[in-house]
Amino acid sequence: MTALIKKIYKTILNEKQRNHLYYFLFRFRAKKYGGNEVECPICDNHFSQFLTYGNVPRAQALCPRCNSLERNRVMWLYLQKEWKIKERQAKILHFAPEIGIEKQMKKMTNLTYIGADLNPQLADYQMDICQIPNNDNEYDLILCAHVLGHVPDEGKAIREMKRVLKTDGLAIIMTVIDMKNPKTHESSAAKTPAEKLENYGESDLVRLHGLDFGDRLAAQGFKVDRLDYRLIFSESEQKKYGLGQGAREVLYLCRK
Ligand SMILES: [Zn+2]
Repeated sequence: MTALIKKIYKTILNEKQRNHLYYFLFRFRAKKYGGNEVECPICDNHFSQFLTYGNVPRAQALCPRCNSLERNRVMWLYLQKEWKIKERQAKILHFAPEIGIEKQMKKMTNLTYIGADLNPQLADYQMDICQIPNNDNEYDLILCAHVLGHVPDEGKAIREMKRVLKTDGLAIIMTVIDMKNPKTHESSAAKTPAEKLENYGESDLVRLHGLDFGDRLAAQGFKVDRLDYRLIFSESEQKKYGLGQGAREVLYLCRK
């Protein structure tokens, strides 16, 4: 696409409209990958493969139809099989909503679904995770995947999620974990995108979590269960659903 056409296109459609257009167009991409080798539990489609994706490219990562990643499919399988999301009435707050999961949840009439992001173009509700505009004890379920690595005041964000979670509610919090590092890495020297990329592996992270991520959630008052939910599946099922390698897919199940 030439620069001029790109500019016109961006003038006609805002970011939110473009994302919905992409989602519509993914159906044509999906047709190129027809097959039965892999299966996406979110959009319920079969393909010859998942697509390669990431700054450091990961094979078998992206669903050709709904754009879900490994971590989204792990979370969705847990919500379906363990949390019984299709069978209960629930009010849900979903930060930085991934479009595949968002589309599925919005179709479910048993759910009251709030998709929220600091960027109003990326969700139905603009919301700062450090100042959630809700009363205490409002949500049955909070989903927050790969957000806390980007939030300067992580402690405040965690306390806010705990505050608005119902006393019997569940917050599923996920992040990228450096499995080799027992401690979360934060460097005051990493200020520019290039320095952040060098320090954390992504240009917009403000920290790279280590194996202490669960302790950091617990330090703000959550009861935390760490669950590598991929491991309840056989190796062939992990491949079929494209569930990743673990560094990005561990579920931290947080309760009050
Ligand atoms: Zn899918």
